Amino acid sequence: MAMTYQEAVEEIKRRLDVVDVVQRYVVLKKSGANYMGCCPFHKEKTPSFSVNRQKGIFKCFGCGEGGDAISFLMKIQGRSFKEVIEDEAKNMGIELPVTHGGGDFGKKKQAALDVMKKAAEFFQYNLLNSPEAEFAREYLKKRSITDEVIKTYGLGYSLKSFDGLQQHLMTDNQILENAGLAIKRENQKGYIDRFRGRLMIPVKDENGHVVAFGARALEDGQNPKYLNSPDTILYNKSHILYGFDTAKDAIRELDSVLICEGYFDTISLQVGGVKNAVASCGTALTQDHIRLIAKYCESRKIYLAFDTDNAGQMATERSASLIKEAFGGLGDIKQFDSCYATTGDQYACEIRVVSPPQGKDPDEFIRENGGNAYIEHMLNAPLLLDYRLDRLMGQMKNDISPLEKNNLVAKIIPLLEEIGNNIVQNEYVKRVATRLQIDEGLLLREIKAFRQKNEQIEEPVFEEKSQIVTKSSNFIEKMQKNLLSLFFISVSDSNRLQLISIIQSQKIENKNLNLLAQTIDKLAFMSNNTEELIQALFNEFENNSEIKHIITDLIYLSKCYENLTESELQMAMAETTEKVELFRRKEELKQLRIQSRSSVKNDSDEVQYQITVNEKLKSENWRN
Ligand SMILES: [Zn+2]
Repeated sequence: MAMTYQEAVEEIKRRLDVVDVVQRYVVLKKSGANYMGCCPFHKEKTPSFSVNRQKGIFKCFGCGEGGDAISFLMKIQGRSFKEVIEDEAKNMGIELPVTHGGGDFGKKKQAALDVMKKAAEFFQYNLLNSPEAEFAREYLKKRSITDEVIKTYGLGYSLKSFDGLQQHLMTDNQILENAGLAIKRENQKGYIDRFRGRLMIPVKDENGHVVAFGARALEDGQNPKYLNSPDTILYNKSHILYGFDTAKDAIRELDSVLICEGYFDTISLQVGGVKNAVASCGTALTQDHIRLIAKYCESRKIYLAFDTDNAGQMATERSASLIKEAFGGLGDIKQFDSCYATTGDQYACEIRVVSPPQGKDPDEFIRENGGNAYIEHMLNAPLLLDYRLDRLMGQMKNDISPLEKNNLVAKIIPLLEEIGNNIVQNEYVKRVATRLQIDEGLLLREIKAFRQKNEQIEEPVFEEKSQIVTKSSNFIEKMQKNLLSLFFISVSDSNRLQLISIIQSQKIENKNLNLLAQTIDKLAFMSNNTEELIQALFNEFENNSEIKHIITDLIYLSKCYENLTESELQMAMAETTEKVELFRRKEELKQLRIQSRSSVKNDSDEVQYQITVNEKLKSENWRN
């Protein structure tokens, strides 16, 4: 039976996991009950962005942004509540009533997905059966790709004709164009198939839907060697990793991932037993790729397995610095010999480089030596720093000139300087000095000089004006927030009653806070626990991001009151109300004084003022 819109929204909210959602955009690290990361809404280098799965909320202590999974998506995508719901419904395969979305974009996307699936089936049929594809079959045989592998990875063949796919699918060509399968003819009517006479490799999203194709040339003169799908409504190459759908379980299980370069490297690796292998498709690794990996791989053990040629080495360097950038805010990155470190598994991530000595790419290596030999190399793969040092020092000729040696050392110094731990650094200095036959003390001094020079030229860090929302504009509001936050710790019914009466006696001037207080009053007794209360509040204020902010503020504020004993809680409530009262009276007094000075017109006014002030002062004295 079809759900109503509201039921569908409930179901989506129930299934959305805030940690999962945030991880689509932010690299997170578990820290106690929370996950921490660098805020996507303001620039920061150290993480002040916190996500709590159990309570279903996120909160940035830097810029104050906060809310639930849906408000996160609204904010980061710049979309409305309804649009976010539509999108998530699609992701989850939940059908929304026609009047609520299932809109144009959704229909287009679905049509494109359907047509991609049919195209993949057609390409595969061609590869296995078409006489035209004989040479493609021969080619795969030479690469030791069996029929079983063809079926597992959905490999196919696109016919040479200009409209083979169009003729077969007999569908609206606009849909084919949307999916990136057809191209409009420039000066004539009609469309031509994008992929012709090529080996077709389907690229799937996280959920196993075909969203793009990589198409390999099979004949001489066919350019380019790889023709990839353009970015479409289904596909964004900087988000998708090839082989991820078949690797994700292994990535999670092994808590590690191997990143290689090409489609066939990935296939050979996965077939050869390296089940956690993925590749970026015709593009350099991006932050989005890293986030996708981080979501599945908690300890972020990342193996880089690019080609050993120059381009591959550059890709290794570039990827490593990208990974360091992505995880740098979360703590140390394990990139040098671990045996000296004491922090155990506290690393933000670990980078190793797999490059078998024979200098072959993974596909070639596995074809010649088998998957097990590759796994052996992988298990012994050096950490990033060791790999880099080895590579640099490996270039050293026996008859190296003094100037050449100086240049080599200049490349090594920044690597050594990066090592934070002095003892580890010293060990590396010793090794390098011995291997290069230079003075150890000299090398250390050079490292120090390099560091100093760097510190001098480092630009002053731009301090952001942090507007911490938790810091209320005034004292009373702050105290009132403290009181309200007590609703988010588990307290006895009698305490909750007392709290409600205290709140009701408060004059809450902040409009949003007042509305929230009233709603908490209403919902507090309808919820069995704080989680239910939070959910009910977020439902109530679905579209009010300001109040959602306040809710998250209160939830995080409540952390300081957790584990209070009954009497401590009583004291906290009493103290807070007392402080509010005291502050309010002082403020009134101040106001009176200001008013009197500006508006004393006659004697009776003056007398009246004195009486009021004296009364106030008396009660203050009595209190103190
Ligand atoms: Zn922030």
